[in-house]
Amino acid sequence: MILDGSALSKTLREEVAEATRGSGVKPGLATILVGDDPASFSYVGSKQRACERAGFKAEDVRLPGQTTQAELEDVIQGLNARDDIHGVLVQQPLPKQIDTEVIVASVDPDKDVDGFHPVNLGRLMRGDRGFLPCTPFGITRLLSSAGISVSGKNVVIVGRSLLVGKPLALMFLAKMGQGGGLQDTGDATVTVCHSRTCDLPAVTLGADILVCAIGIPEFVRADMVREGATVVDVGINRVDDSTKPRGYRLVGDVMYDEVAEKAGAITPVPGGVGPMTVTMLLYNTLQSARKLYSQDPL
Ligand code: NDP
Repeated sequence: MILDGSALSKTLREEVAEATRGSGVKPGLATILVGDDPASFSYVGSKQRACERAGFKAEDVRLPGQTTQAELEDVIQGLNARDDIHGVLVQQPLPKQIDTEVIVASVDPDKDVDGFHPVNLGRLMRGDRGFLPCTPFGITRLLSSAGISVSGKNVVIVGRSLLVGKPLALMFLAKMGQGGGLQDTGDATVTVCHSRTCDLPAVTLGADILVCAIGIPEFVRADMVREGATVVDVGINRVDDSTKPRGYRLVGDVMYDEVAEKAGAITPVPGGVGPMTVTMLLYNTLQSARKLYSQDPL
C-alpha cells in the first residue's frame, strides 16, 4: 500500500476550507522569512499559497538577511499582538546572527502553529492540549487514515530531532484519546534511534512501523526492514541529477524501490509526509483562530 500524502492532503485541505467557511472567523497566518535562502523561499511560497486556497489571510513578511535579533523580535511582538493573525511562523534556518531558540520562544505559544515553542513541547510531554508539531502530526494522520493503528505495536523512529523524532515519539507514546493525546494515535511501544545507536539494522528489523527522519539519501535498505512493515519516510534530500531540468531530484531517507518490495505500506518521496506537513499547519492555524488546539476536532 502506498501512503499517498498528496491525496490525503487534498481531502483534508478541503475539510479545512469547509470548516473555515463555517467558522465565522478568517484564520490569519503570518510567515516570516529572513534572507534569501532558495529552499526557504519555496517552502514559504507553498505555505502562503495553501493558506490562500483555504480562505485564510496569508501575511508574507520578508526581511533582509542582515536583520538583527532585536528587529526580528519586534516584528514577532507586533504579530503576537494582532487580532487578525492567529498563527506566526518563523521559517528556519535563520541567519547566523540570530539566536533561533530565543526567536522560537518569542512567538506567543497560542499562535505557535508550528508547535515548536517550549510551552507546546512541554504540553506534549505532559499530555496537555496544545499545538502539535506539523510533521509528526501529519504522520499520525497519514497512518490513521490508512487504518494503520500504532496501538500496541513496536514503532522504531530513526532520528531524534526536536522537529520530528522526539515529538513523534511522544505522540505515539501518549495514552490514546486522554489528556493531550490524539483520538487516532498512541499507546505504541516506541524505540528512538540515532547516529550512536549500535547495530541499527537489528533494531529496525524489530519494527512493525519504521519511521526514518535522518537526512541521508536512501540510507535505509531492504535488509533493514521486516517483511510487511509500515515504512514512513520523512527525509527530503536533493541529489544531483543532470537529466532533470533543475539539475537535481528529491529522494527520501529510504531506498524506495527495494524497500517497497518488502514493506506492507510505504510513503513515497515526494508526495508522502511533505504535503501533510503543510496541511497540518493549516489545521493548526484554523484551530488557533477558533481558540482550539490540535487535539480538538475540526
Ligand atoms: P536532523 O539533522 O535534525 O536529525 C537527523 C537525525 O538523524 C539525528 O537524530 C541523527 O542522530 C540521526 N542520524 C544521522 N545519521 C544517522 C545514522 N547514520 N544512523 C542513525 N541515525 C542517524 O534532521 P531533521 O529531523 O530535521 O530532518 C530529517 C530529514 O527529514 C531531513 O531529510 C529533512 O529534510 C526531512 N524533513 C522533512 C520534513 C517534511 O515535511 N517531510 C520536515 C522536517 C524534516 P544524532 O542525533 O545522533 O546526530
